[in-house]
Amino acid sequence: MAEPEFDVVVVGFGPVGALLANLLGRHGLRVLVLERDAGIHPLPRAVHFDGEVMRVFQAAGLAGAVEDVARPTSRGMHFVNAAGETLMVRRGTDGPGPHGWANNWYFHQPELDAALRTGAARFANVEVRLRHEARALRDAGDHVSVGIRSVATGASDELTARYVVGCDGARSLVRDAVGGSMLDLGLHQPWLVVDVLASPRSEPARRLPDYTVQHCDPRRPMTRVHVKGLRHRFEIMLMPGDDEEEIVRPDRIWPMLALHGIGPDDVRIERSAIYTFHSLVAAPWRRGRLLLAGDSAHQTPPFLGQGMCAGIRDASNLAWKLSMVVAGTAGESLLDTCETERAPHVRAFIELAVRLGAIIQATDPAVAEARDAEFRARGPTMFDFPQPRLGPGIWMDGSPACGDVFPQPRLADGRRLDDVAGDRFAVLSALPLDTRTRRAGGGGRRGGLDLAFIDAPGPAVEEWLAAREAAAVIVRPDRYVFAVAGDEAGVRHALEELASLLR
Ligand SMILES: Cc1cc2nc3c(=O)[nH]c(=O)nc-3n(C[C@H](O)[C@H](O)[C@H](O)COP(=O)(O)OP(=O)(O)OC[C@H]3O[C@@H](n4cnc5c(N)ncnc54)[C@H](O)[C@@H]3O)c2cc1C
Repeated sequence: MAEPEFDVVVVGFGPVGALLANLLGRHGLRVLVLERDAGIHPLPRAVHFDGEVMRVFQAAGLAGAVEDVARPTSRGMHFVNAAGETLMVRRGTDGPGPHGWANNWYFHQPELDAALRTGAARFANVEVRLRHEARALRDAGDHVSVGIRSVATGASDELTARYVVGCDGARSLVRDAVGGSMLDLGLHQPWLVVDVLASPRSEPARRLPDYTVQHCDPRRPMTRVHVKGLRHRFEIMLMPGDDEEEIVRPDRIWPMLALHGIGPDDVRIERSAIYTFHSLVAAPWRRGRLLLAGDSAHQTPPFLGQGMCAGIRDASNLAWKLSMVVAGTAGESLLDTCETERAPHVRAFIELAVRLGAIIQATDPAVAEARDAEFRARGPTMFDFPQPRLGPGIWMDGSPACGDVFPQPRLADGRRLDDVAGDRFAVLSALPLDTRTRRAGGGGRRGGLDLAFIDAPGPAVEEWLAAREAAAVIVRPDRYVFAVAGDEAGVRHALEELASLLR
């Protein structure tokens, strides 16, 4: 077979496909993105991302572009019962969090999608074909044949790629081609999503809280989010007996918004649509040369604002691995670790969202009253996003920090860690390391590991190391901890182990 036309075909130009195209573009891969739709999807779904995701945008060289369209917030998420009592709070944080950026950001999705697409256009090696859909996939062993169809003309074509990544959302063609099954974590519930634009002169609209509120009212559970600027989001649970055709109409929506003190003089309804929230994880995420990332691989109810975030983490995990495999510096089995590492991680978020769903979606008055009494007795519960460790994969099981995401402190020279480490593995060491150690990673199938050695990394990293009685830490290109070492021999051993794992 002649050289495939593309290293990677990405199916779907939603946020996950667009971000993956940026990351693969930076690695110099020949990428084709296929997207069925003509333009950016006008109906936003996601409104929130977290500090780790901002860090991935930074890795894609897009931190500035994303900062222009997203609003950082130090406020958390409040769970309030029908009587207005606070049951729980997902904590907010002031200033930069552990990832070197605010922990929480809100945005209008078409603006974020546009920033990611403009980012992908920076790369001559990334081609985007809008209004082209993937129709058929055939893994021929040494390449994939991708049958495509132009939505505009109906014309069909076939092209070849080394790998295909399905970022094609919940109804994924690539997932069908991978085969397998979906693990169902139990929550499936339709909700009405209403976006409104506030009138700048409306006093009631100005009084809408700046933080997210989960109204755990058994008569009608709702979520209220200040998105950005004048834009607010109301997510409203459908109740038994609701007519899905009727409930999206303004005359049905206004009485529900009146509960928040606003009406037609205060806000304009931008859109309303019904979504069914799901809690699913696909298995497997890879078969041969076909891979999954984003909603094609998992779906979560949005109570934590983490569905897209999980997909962005998938892209970050996949990009460096795919780049090494395509470059021949790692064996193909590395691609299996995307699922082994990421599936348990995303599952921890989905399971928490499902548990929160049980609290928010309680519609039986007796169940809601028992819930309220329980929270009243122990006082408002504070919680944070989970910080799960990766599942088994490319990290050494020697210290509790391994497999966790490494923070992004400022280094001794004031720069952010990731700006210095770039797309490489980084060895941050409080010890000066000798040349033999610096050569120890020279494994990989062909050529050596791409390593950034950061000596004297500064007080924040040194404190981190001291707290773990360590002298050095090896961080992966996606900033998860590969290994922690107590001395120079430990660093050497870890680098040799890394080289052998990648072979
Ligand atoms: C109401 C709601 C609120 C949410 N809020 C948040 C939030 O605040 N934070 C958060 O992180 N997540 C949130 N989510 C989840 C988030 O929207 C999704 O997880 C995210 O959009 C998934 O991105 P994706 O790129 O994987 O898939 P999608 O955004 O679904 O994109 C898939 C793309 O693939 C294209 N496509 C599909 N099939 C083909 C084909 N055969 N050929 C070519 N193109 C194809 C589609 O046209 C589409 O553009 C929310 C979801 C909902 C429903």
